[in-house]
Amino acid sequence: MGYPIQLVGLEGKRVLLAGGGPVAAEKIAPLILAGAHVHLVTPEISAEMEEWLPRVWRFDRRLVSDDDVAGAKVVVGATDDMVVNARLVEVARGLGILAQAADDKPNCDFYSPAVIRRGPVVMTISTDGGSPMLAGQLRRALEAAVPRSVTDVAELLVRLRDRGMKGLANRGRMLRALFDPTITRLVDRGDTEAAADRLEELFHEQDEPFEPGTVALVGAGPGSRHLLTLRALDRIQRADVILHDALVEEEVLRLALPGTEIVNVGHRSGALRPDETPADAQRIPLMVEYARQGRRVVRLHGGDPFVFGRGGEEVDALREAGVPLEVVPGVSSVLASAAAAGTPLTQRGVAKGFTVRTGHDTGGPTRGELPPEEETVVVLMGLGAADAVLAELVAEGRDPATPALAVSGASRTDEQIVVGTLATLAAAIRAADLPGPATLIVGGVARGALELAEADTGHDMNYDVAPARGLKTTAGAT
Ligand code: SAH
Repeated sequence: MGYPIQLVGLEGKRVLLAGGGPVAAEKIAPLILAGAHVHLVTPEISAEMEEWLPRVWRFDRRLVSDDDVAGAKVVVGATDDMVVNARLVEVARGLGILAQAADDKPNCDFYSPAVIRRGPVVMTISTDGGSPMLAGQLRRALEAAVPRSVTDVAELLVRLRDRGMKGLANRGRMLRALFDPTITRLVDRGDTEAAADRLEELFHEQDEPFEPGTVALVGAGPGSRHLLTLRALDRIQRADVILHDALVEEEVLRLALPGTEIVNVGHRSGALRPDETPADAQRIPLMVEYARQGRRVVRLHGGDPFVFGRGGEEVDALREAGVPLEVVPGVSSVLASAAAAGTPLTQRGVAKGFTVRTGHDTGGPTRGELPPEEETVVVLMGLGAADAVLAELVAEGRDPATPALAVSGASRTDEQIVVGTLATLAAAIRAADLPGPATLIVGGVARGALELAEADTGHDMNYDVAPARGLKTTAGAT
């Protein structure tokens, strides 16, 4: 069995190559690419070989002779005459020169492997001289499998080595850094210099602390994983156990690594089946227990943990139990719904502020702070009781003609928007059979969305359901 050896030392060295046909053509490319001074000797030459002539160091159009061998570093006999090839090897061996007769295993001091090159990366495949054809087939299969981008990544790593970063003590971090989206984008653009700078930064960046026995209350955003924060993603991927709301989308949970325990502790509005999910009374002790077992616990809330998410009660309970905690904010559905509808919550000359209420308590705790016509009202959990919620807002002194809209599934692929006024929205929601979760937005700020929908359908929207068309979210439904 041959010992794998890579001939790195041929640069500028004379290599004798005898032969001008297809076998010689296979040998010549790697020699020239390795920088060897190829001395080609052959009486006849194929068209394929002719193409290499400009890069050949010396070409003699004649039969090869014993005298050609002396002084070469390596000798390759690739003529169509096995006897000639074997003779060259015999002479070379006598002079202590490495030699090879093509397709003649006993007369080979080394074999030419099949080669895949990606910039500085060289992969060689050898069958120990047994079957060059098999090696060639494997090479084609592997060529297809090894991505082109390996060239750029390898160049990047060579650069980092030059900067004295060869230790690569923390392989995990190196890999993560290499596949960071910023790096891959820079590499795509061919800017390996900037990529190397950024990679070095990432490599030295310390992980944020997330100690065993800690609970992170994490906002998962309104649905689309693209609205997660980088910190939320980090905690999700470092968690031992994730306790999540029913509203957290599957595509977010799928970001957790295999082996992470995932427990649904949420409940949608309505009755809870006894076998369904733990209610509040069990959820908090469960969280404390997991933390005390020394696990990294993520309590994953839809939207933001502190907006109608019971994050407050959880913080109180964890503090009381002496469990260390952190809070990672999320994009609340309040903000995601406004974005989806292209409707600002405040706007100069239209709304001075906004209040967030729950449809479960239509009175609204912040009532009276702003004149009603200057205040945007956002209502969560108000879909089921939309009639009562909207009527209450009229009772507070708002004009029934105030624009109002409902956003269902903001940021999700099934996002839908229904527009109307305080007087008409409830009927529009019913007509559209709008599914939850949905958020209502009421106020002058919604006029733009209303007018857009009217222009889109060509008639007065007071009683109509607007298509979501034309109101596409910038928050990025995917
Ligand atoms: N903590 C969450 C709110 C929890 S209360 C947050 O910050 O978003 C649940 C209510 O949120 C739902 O009844 C609905 O009004 C709203 N909601 C949640 N996800 C939503 C979404 N994708 N689109 C619109 N509203 C949503």
